[in-house]
Order: sequence, then structure tokens, then C-alpha cells
Amino acid sequence: MVEESGRRKRPNILVTGTPGTGKTTTCTALAEATQLRHINVGDLVRDKNLHDGWDDELDCFVLNEDLVCDELEDQMEEGGNIVDYHGCDFFPERWFDCVVVLQTDNTVLYDRLSRRGYNESKLSNNIECEIFQVLLEEAKESYPEDRVVAMKSDTIEDINRNVSTLTDWVRNWHPTS
Ligand code: ADP
Ligand code: MN
Repeated sequence: MVEESGRRKRPNILVTGTPGTGKTTTCTALAEATQLRHINVGDLVRDKNLHDGWDDELDCFVLNEDLVCDELEDQMEEGGNIVDYHGCDFFPERWFDCVVVLQTDNTVLYDRLSRRGYNESKLSNNIECEIFQVLLEEAKESYPEDRVVAMKSDTIEDINRNVSTLTDWVRNWHPTS
């Protein structure tokens, strides 16, 4: 039997998507609107050393999934979190009441990532990741489909609309039992 939201009083939301799709911007605004806690997993991994070293090829830390999940377990059980990460297949399914996958038009994303100073190989890896909807597929394989929602994140208007939709959802959320 799948363990549902249990006793948490406020929901947990996962915001995922290819780097540059607007996760951190969206989560920051959503946390402000809802008073939920924004957890930027990339920052947490760096600050608390929850990794197995640096991956030179991918130019990022090799995240240690067990360390990350142990670090977050208590807070997630308590509820009221917005988790921000470009991966979603290693978190326990029971943690999340809603999984948001942000999506951005390729040319818009290309510009954002170039501005971020990504090198050619990192750029093409991430654009490919977006073209093949890798995160949407990963989310659908890892969570019940009715908890997964894809949201377009091309413009500021998109961010405002997504934040307002999600804020309404949080306000209307009730524990399942
Ligand atoms: P992520 O956390 O997914 O890597 P960020 O939130 O850091 O993405 O956004 C990357 C850059 O793109 C930032 O400069 C941000 O202002 C911009 N950006 C993100 N989403 C949008 C959007 N929907 N419209 C306009 N600019 C955006
Ligand atoms: Mn980010």
C-alpha cells in the first residue's frame, strides 16, 4: 500500500525541470506567497557536503542520494516544503503531494543558459534534456500521474500564472486522512 500524505498539515511540492527553466525563481516567489519553506537541493548539497565529489565532465557535484534523503526526511515528514531540484527519481514517492515540471522553449532556454556562461557541451546536454522532456518522463515514472503537472515557463507572465495557480492549490490542500 502506498503511504499517502500521512499526518502532515501542509503539502510538500517538488519543482523540477531542466536547469534554467525557472525552478529557483518560481520557488522563491511561491515560498513568499505561501510561507512554505523553499529547499534548494543544489545549494544544500554544496553547503552540507552531501556529495561524492565533483564531476568534471558534467561540471557539477555528484549528489549522494542517501545523504540528501536522510538530511531531508524529518522536514519532509513535517510538511510545508517546496523542493527545488533538476532531478526527481530518487526522492521517496510519499514525500510529495504535487510534482511540478517546468518547461521552456528551446531557443529561450538556450539564451538563458548561455547567459549563465554554460560551455558548449553543458549547453547541448541541457537543451537535449529539454527537447526530450527527460524530467517530465522521469516525474511520470516516479510519481502517480495525477500528482504530476507540467507548466510552461517561457515568460514572466508564465511565472506569475504558475505561482498563482500553485498558491491556490496550496490554500485548498487538505490532508488525505
Ligand atoms: P533554474 O533554477 O531552473 O535553473 P532559474 O530560476 O535560476 O532557473 O532561472 C534561470 C534564469 O532564467 C534567471 O535569470 C531567471 O530570471 C530567468 N527565468 C527563469 N524563468 C523565467 C521565465 N519564466 N521568464 C523569464 N525569465 C525566466
Ligand atoms: Mn536553480
